[in-house]
Amino acid sequence: MSPPGASARKAAPPEAAAGDKAAPRAQAEKAPVKSPAQKALEKLGLRRDIDLALHLPLRYEDETRIVRLADARDGDLVQIEGEVTHSDIAFRPRRQLRVTVDDGSGTCVLRFINFYPAHQKTLSVGARVRVRGEIRGGFVAREMIHPAFRLAGGELPGALTPVYPTVAALPQNYLRKAVLSGLSRADLSETIPAEFLSKNMPKPLWSLRESLQFLHHPTPDVALATLEDRSHPAWQRLKAEELLAQQLSQLQARRIRAAMRAPALDGPAMRGPQCTLEEQLLERLPFRLTAAQQRVCQEIEADLKKNIPMHRLLQGDVGAGKTVVAALAAARCIDAGWQCALMAPTEILAEQHFSKLIGWLEPLGIKTAWLTGSQKTKERREMLALIESGAAGLVIGTHAVIQDKVKFKNLALAIIDEQHRFGVAQRLALRSKMTEGGQEPHLLMMTATPIPRTLAMSYYADLDVSTIDELPPGRTPIVTKVVSDARRDEVITRIRGQLAEGRQIYWVCPLIEESESIDLVNATQTHEALSAALPGVMVGLLHSRMPVAEKKAVMALFTSGVMGVLVSTTVIEVGVDVPNASLMVIEHAERFGLSQLHQLRGRVGRGAAASACVLLYSTGEASRLGEMARERLKAMAQTNDGFEIARRDLEIRGPGEFLGARQSGAPLLRFADLETDAALLAWARGLAPRMLDQYRQLANLHIARWLGGKSDYLKA
Ligand code: ADP
Ligand code: MG
Repeated sequence: MSPPGASARKAAPPEAAAGDKAAPRAQAEKAPVKSPAQKALEKLGLRRDIDLALHLPLRYEDETRIVRLADARDGDLVQIEGEVTHSDIAFRPRRQLRVTVDDGSGTCVLRFINFYPAHQKTLSVGARVRVRGEIRGGFVAREMIHPAFRLAGGELPGALTPVYPTVAALPQNYLRKAVLSGLSRADLSETIPAEFLSKNMPKPLWSLRESLQFLHHPTPDVALATLEDRSHPAWQRLKAEELLAQQLSQLQARRIRAAMRAPALDGPAMRGPQCTLEEQLLERLPFRLTAAQQRVCQEIEADLKKNIPMHRLLQGDVGAGKTVVAALAAARCIDAGWQCALMAPTEILAEQHFSKLIGWLEPLGIKTAWLTGSQKTKERREMLALIESGAAGLVIGTHAVIQDKVKFKNLALAIIDEQHRFGVAQRLALRSKMTEGGQEPHLLMMTATPIPRTLAMSYYADLDVSTIDELPPGRTPIVTKVVSDARRDEVITRIRGQLAEGRQIYWVCPLIEESESIDLVNATQTHEALSAALPGVMVGLLHSRMPVAEKKAVMALFTSGVMGVLVSTTVIEVGVDVPNASLMVIEHAERFGLSQLHQLRGRVGRGAAASACVLLYSTGEASRLGEMARERLKAMAQTNDGFEIARRDLEIRGPGEFLGARQSGAPLLRFADLETDAALLAWARGLAPRMLDQYRQLANLHIARWLGGKSDYLKA
């Protein structure tokens, strides 16, 4: 088996590909001019023969039979064959070609609104034609609108005709031919050892070759429903294949990681008279760790002590107290004589961490450096020097942390907050900040969007997960209300009440990525309306287009309690910790994802006061839509449990969107469904380690076949 790159045959025509072999490479690559269809093939990711073979039909058309018109009923999708007895162009109700076909058992009128002279010619009186389309009307006035047709004759195919998912530039016929030739050329040799084909399976799996051939060209007697719901044995095989590839590749990545080395962060570098930094930090905290926090700290500590790079996701609901867990890990790292970096997705979040961690760590003698994009050059230069010399044990910042100029003396622990907001490349860049002696830093990723179990088992099989499943004591649950936009006035009355009690309020306007200007109008108007409705109260505005300095000034006013109401468009930057804020109003709540709403909501309920969240949904003109939105939002009112919400979010949006396909970089499952195919997933999980141990070559072949060059993400 050649590596996937080498076997990646370009979809260029053979003449062009064979080209002038002696020509220098650069020229050869420029030479072939690709047709739009070829480009479309590549865009669909159909580069190798195997990619084409694995491009499966969406549905099928039955051209294997010819139906007598007398037997065709209204709504049937049929193929008929007969003689054209009449053809004309009618002008009412609009210009159209009308053709009557008689097959001896009955007649049918074909109607074409868009037609060319060639249509007319093929469908001229006396011609025998084969026509395929949906029958409309009864015996008297049967007709077909825009049916497919061709001259009669030729053998009927023995199999159903596949219809493939495609794009405009790629005609179905071209794609069919490409798939057919890909299927005939691709290496479809068996990769799953025979003993596993029937292991823990209700029925033995079909072979790959048999399954693919069937799915591309099923025999007409197949129960179409089993193809549609993908319960057919041929589909089972494909889904099993796909899940196995995913499990194999993740397990392989895990083993590669296990073979890499990281500094073992095992106790202080120099044992002084005092206890460890971790112990000192714990001593100084104004609270005791919850049992869940203690447990995850132990899990992290156990990883850090090893000389294998940690790859751990720390998940915990908003407000669960992940920051202090990160601080303790940082303290352990710095105590051992190494540097730690913490990266957050926005400047305000980074700053929030910064002030919190400084408050905790500097009294222990740890020097902290701070890096952001908006920093003054002089300050930045000082920070870079602190980092390079190793004087700064802890480095906190935004993406600025991974820039080339940043050189660590000895980075051993990288912590990423809100990891889903970073891409694969950024995670890789942070890890590459330590290359000393072929070592890698430990990686701790934090997220408040819990990953449902099924996803964790498949997409994140290469990740160890720690979960803080308990909130710190003394929090009062947030009461969530779903309220129609029409009742805004009542909401404002409520705000007055809260303000009178000395509380603060967040008012969040939706963030529509494509249209920042609309956001702005929305937020500005709300800001004006609230300012007018609440005389004597400071109402602030925070939006994504404001300069960072101004954002910070607004945040400072809110954090200090001077500002009563904060209107904001920027979702994540509300990630601040203001325990006195007890009410959050979310406007156009129907435009947010459930998990997003949950994260936002977590900004209140941080203090002892009873907190509430009001989800305003707009009924607008389309009140039916408003109704649906309300239903969806009800889930939010019913539960405060982030896991439950993530599960429902997944149900509603599907894994692709849930994970943010672009960001996760993980190739998503095309065929298998984690819920319905749980049994196959379990099978694949069980098989993967044995295949890697006992059938290494087959395992590699399997991974290459399914993932080709797409396995880069595994390293991140
Ligand atoms: P998140 O997990 O959302 O990042 P934070 O780390 O910001 O949550 O913690 C939320 C708040 O709870 C902070 O003010 C933090 O200091 C506080 N906190 C964390 N752990 C505890 C605890 N065990 N007891 C009381 N308060 C805690
Ligand atoms: Mg946090």
